Amino acid sequence: MKKFVGLLYSCFFTCAPLAGVILEAPHFKTVCDHLSDECLIVLDIDDTLLLPAQMLGCDEWFLYENKKYIKEGFTPSEALEKVISEWEAVRHLTNVVVVEPGTAEIVKQWQHHYPVMGLTTQGIALATRTVQQLQSLEIDLTLSAPSKADHYFINRHGVLYRDGILFTSGTPKGKALIKLLELADVHPKKIIFLNDKATHLKDVESEVELNGMEFVGLRYSYPDAIKARFKPEIAEIQFHHSSFSHILTDEEATEWMKTRDN
Ligand SMILES: [Mg+2]
Repeated sequence: MKKFVGLLYSCFFTCAPLAGVILEAPHFKTVCDHLSDECLIVLDIDDTLLLPAQMLGCDEWFLYENKKYIKEGFTPSEALEKVISEWEAVRHLTNVVVVEPGTAEIVKQWQHHYPVMGLTTQGIALATRTVQQLQSLEIDLTLSAPSKADHYFINRHGVLYRDGILFTSGTPKGKALIKLLELADVHPKKIIFLNDKATHLKDVESEVELNGMEFVGLRYSYPDAIKARFKPEIAEIQFHHSSFSHILTDEEATEWMKTRDN
């Protein structure tokens, strides 16, 4: 009987989904508080590792443009297609900056001890450019990537894993991550995911728990203050008056606006 209860006990704790947790992370280094053996560190890209050097091309601008096109009479899917094409064009041309100083050094330290990868809803078209932009910030996600090989699969749209980053092409991150781990034959005990968007954390949490792994989701709040400073009128000037060779800086666009209004 004792043996049977023991078996039941062990089955319950090995088969039942593990409860995950989602916490606020005011700083990039907050991840260090949750590291443990056999964990996989997963990092969002936009507004977590990098952001454009100016307001044009940031996530806030993407959301602003999308709403603007819907107000102008485009259907939601037309507006989304239009804003994705503009956003990708800007993202190919823009320089980027690191979200929080010190990030590259912390990532390098983790890479000596833990597998680290990127997870983004960016489309495949941006894969090469995003890797170059991360390199410009001295972040190389190939160093301790969970798989050195490329992987391509369908997750509603085509999804690509390359150079340590999974590009989910706007499809849910959770299912894509689990599929990648299956394909790469990687079995972490725990996944730590740092992302500025709570919705993406919830999505990954559900899938990770369903697959019996421990999950720690960290809602990265450091970029909240940067997002709050977004000014649509500055991004509009940058959109209409920049060139292929030079995107107006925030300061240049502000000067342009003052001259126009005087
Ligand atoms: Mg993000």
